Amino acid sequence: MTNIALIGVGVSGLSFLSFINRKKFNIEIFEKSRGFSGRLSTRRTECGKFDHGAQFFTIKNNIFKEFLLSNFSGLFKKYEPSIKYNNHGVLENFANSTHYYFSGGMNSFGKTLGKKFNASLNTKIKSIKKTSKNKWQLIFDDNYISKGTFDYVVSSAPFDQTRDIYSNNFSFDKKFAMRPCITLMVGFKTFHEDVHPYQKFHDDSNLDSLFYQNYKFNDNKLHCWVVQAKAQWSINNLELPDEKIISELLRKLKIIFGPKKPEFLQLHKWRFASTSKNKFENEIASNCDNLFAIGDWVSGGRVEGAFLSGYRLAKHFNETI
Ligand SMILES: Cc1cc2nc3c(=O)[nH]c(=O)nc-3n(C[C@H](O)[C@H](O)[C@H](O)COP(=O)(O)OP(=O)(O)OC[C@H]3O[C@@H](n4cnc5c(N)ncnc54)[C@H](O)[C@@H]3O)c2cc1C
Repeated sequence: MTNIALIGVGVSGLSFLSFINRKKFNIEIFEKSRGFSGRLSTRRTECGKFDHGAQFFTIKNNIFKEFLLSNFSGLFKKYEPSIKYNNHGVLENFANSTHYYFSGGMNSFGKTLGKKFNASLNTKIKSIKKTSKNKWQLIFDDNYISKGTFDYVVSSAPFDQTRDIYSNNFSFDKKFAMRPCITLMVGFKTFHEDVHPYQKFHDDSNLDSLFYQNYKFNDNKLHCWVVQAKAQWSINNLELPDEKIISELLRKLKIIFGPKKPEFLQLHKWRFASTSKNKFENEIASNCDNLFAIGDWVSGGRVEGAFLSGYRLAKHFNETI
């Protein structure tokens, strides 16, 4: 059988695993976190649940739609509140495509599909090494070299991490880089009736968006919000101490929620949150015989793009290898 190493199991990795012909390919899976789902992430806290990564997804593609209906029937919902753009304090309606979410938390995607696959979790891959027989070995974070060898390696890690793993074995667009997103989870005792549940800020503040979590999770103990900072502000402030970042964000939140401090505060720094266009858009990302990359950065960004890149590569393997 042909051996494949899959590095990382977010949406794209799970999509690849769901469509690849497992009778033809033997796949070993390595994931640096303790579970599947990547940036489709849900944090359980003492005051309730927060989707602190992706909030929603779109369903524009029929393959994605059919996949969701057959694997997640009844588990995803349409998000009802309209998006409002906040232009310097003035809320304006914004007609956008329909958004969906997993009602049990966005990480339901990984939790549900992940049950079907065995993986080495908490296993970070540092780099790869070519053997004399033109196969690949993986080098782990502690410099241990995999005993097994692989005919193909597929990385579903974000661009910057894939570049570090593949290094000179793969040619990357040097100008491309993923953008961070500083995310704050806040919980208030009181419900802020006058604050719209889904706002995007088109002003010169540090805030990008605000999402009321209790729309998704109605048993949260506090009124929970996810606050996402703008990408440029996140780039400029990522290395500041957490307390400094929190106090900067709270300054703007005070204007929105009033002077009373939130009861709950937790910060998460996404180093590789979002992506822009790159040369691989809508292609199979490979410029080496047997190294491949999948993920949102390969396929136009976002959840649906990540899913389609995994699907496309599985199809490529099934049909041509
Ligand atoms: C704050 C935020 C908000 C977002 N909002 C939206 C939204 O509203 N709508 C939308 O469609 N998209 C949104 N996105 C983007 C969306 O989450 C991603 O496009 C999608 O989840 C990417 O999936 P992926 O499989 O490409 O990558 P990931 O989900 O990042 O999966 C990669 C996996 O690889 C693992 N990994 C990385 N390095 C290694 C290594 N060295 N060894 C082993 N494993 C490794 C990681 O742990 C991870 O599990 C948002 C993202 C963030 C962070």
